[in-house]
Amino acid sequence: MKKNYLLLIGTHNNGKFKEISKLISKKIKKISPKSLQIKAPKETGKSFKSNSELKANFFFKKSKLISLSDDSGLEIFALNKKPGIYSARWAKKSGSFKKAMLNILKKIKYKKNRKARFICSLSIKLNNTKTITSIGVINGYISHKILGKKGFGYDPIFIPSRSKLTFGQISRSKKMKIDHRSIAFKKLKKKLKLNKFFI
Ligand code: IMP
Repeated sequence: MKKNYLLLIGTHNNGKFKEISKLISKKIKKISPKSLQIKAPKETGKSFKSNSELKANFFFKKSKLISLSDDSGLEIFALNKKPGIYSARWAKKSGSFKKAMLNILKKIKYKKNRKARFICSLSIKLNNTKTITSIGVINGYISHKILGKKGFGYDPIFIPSRSKLTFGQISRSKKMKIDHRSIAFKKLKKKLKLNKFFI
């Protein structure tokens, strides 16, 4: 398929919309569910994969457009992989991302294991019958303080492996070269190519 179609990027999160859009060819026109006045579905899935598929299916049904959705989150090993699929909900419950990050730092203050990972499941619904999904993971650990003002969400407390800086301290372009979303995206692109579909 030629790269001149309209793609719905199924997220209401502006940070994610920007990051996902930047990964996709300029030849594809991107549209958000907000601009079509489509609300977000309830994330009732029990895994990142089921939630990203649920969202892509929902936005495809509502818009009749090819729809790309992600579900992502932060897993902290000392917290039994929480917040995980509840990452956005933890922030909402805490009142803000800053408060959620401070809560996390407090919870793991005396834990030796500060390992964590960001996971992203990306799903694209191409037509009534075909949905393709890929998963990306980036390993790292949780910093001792909130560091940096860049990025979004939990970026200021996540330090990727082999780095000394949090995602909040590095530029968006540097983050996007290594993060969970771009890993999932590269995998998705390969799978789509096999289906003669390009993004
Ligand atoms: P959802 O996929 O819309 O359920 O939201 C996932 C949540 O995980 C976001 O609201 C952020 O809190 C967090 N998250 C996912 N990816 C990132 C990232 O790249 N940086 C920081 N936080 C992230």
